[in-house]
Amino acid sequence: MRVLPKPSLADRTSLRLGGEALAEVCLEEERDWENLPHVLSRLGGAPLILGRGSNVLAGDGELPLVLLRLQGQKGGYLSRGRERVSVQAQAGRSLPGLLAFLQRQSLSGLEGLTGIPGSVGGAVAMNAGSFGCSLDEYLERVQLWTQEDGLFWRDAADLKTGYRFFDPGLGSRFWVVAKAEFGLSQEEDPQSIKEKMRLVYLRKKRTQPILSRTCGCVFKNPGPESPAGRLLDDCGLKGFRCGGMGFSETHANFLVNRGRGRTGEALELIEIARERCKSRFGLELELEVRVIGG
Ligand SMILES: Cc1cc2nc3c(=O)[nH]c(=O)nc-3n(C[C@H](O)[C@H](O)[C@H](O)COP(=O)(O)OP(=O)(O)OC[C@H]3O[C@@H](n4cnc5c(N)ncnc54)[C@H](O)[C@@H]3O)c2cc1C
Repeated sequence: MRVLPKPSLADRTSLRLGGEALAEVCLEEERDWENLPHVLSRLGGAPLILGRGSNVLAGDGELPLVLLRLQGQKGGYLSRGRERVSVQAQAGRSLPGLLAFLQRQSLSGLEGLTGIPGSVGGAVAMNAGSFGCSLDEYLERVQLWTQEDGLFWRDAADLKTGYRFFDPGLGSRFWVVAKAEFGLSQEEDPQSIKEKMRLVYLRKKRTQPILSRTCGCVFKNPGPESPAGRLLDDCGLKGFRCGGMGFSETHANFLVNRGRGRTGEALELIEIARERCKSRFGLELELEVRVIGG
């Protein structure tokens, strides 16, 4: 286990915004979980598990947080049944890395998640999805960690999931996803999976600013017929800017850091969007991005 002082959130999030936390604890081995409660109580501050920081808007200044970071080994443990293949992945593993591994193994299911730049744990905790593919459809079980119970497994049937929603049923306890197991189907041809992934990626690249400094979608879609991007566009917010931050010109539901953006500017834009959407459509926009210490 490594402990680093004063980690910068701006360096650890895709929006490149945020101040400094108290410390960062990097878990490297299985036995680090056992020492974690002791280390956390020694460091003080509120623990925050951070994956790749691709869905986080972090506040400026000194944040009374201790970041937890997980290592992610390559590959994935496979057990083959007759119809489904179970693949186990560590939460710290990159989701794109896992998808590339599955493609090489000719395992199909998760390719709709191509282009999501998170970790496996972050994708489980957010129940990531895109273009009709939702991670929970393939989740068989998760390994969780809490200070009170240590590591334990929970079956998918005992989890509550929904659109960008994941609740392991642990109330207000601090929990971490340590591993996830997915049930996938074996395809004949890895090339057909590669082709599906290529098409998903191209579609995203055409319609979303996936190469800019963003955190993905800022707001959840209020309904299938009312995507937040279109509502914001109708409110005149496509390309709308505040200082160094702005709503993307490609997709209005993406906030872009144009180089020198600040968290306060991002929060101001979020407020403006909510107000306009409420007064024009009577709709309350719910945040998809996780605001931390803002
Ligand atoms: C260009 C771009 C495109 C995107 N496209 C999509 C998309 O199509 N669909 C989609 O759903 N999302 C999309 N996102 C958002 C984001 O990538 C996903 O939500 C991703 O799953 C977040 O993973 P992460 O590791 O970056 O999580 P983080 O941003 O680090 O964390 C997000 C939340 O999950 C929690 N968390 C992280 N790891 C764990 C863990 N191990 N255990 C418990 N909680 C954890 C954090 O505490 C935080 O609350 C996009 C983002 C970007 C920048």
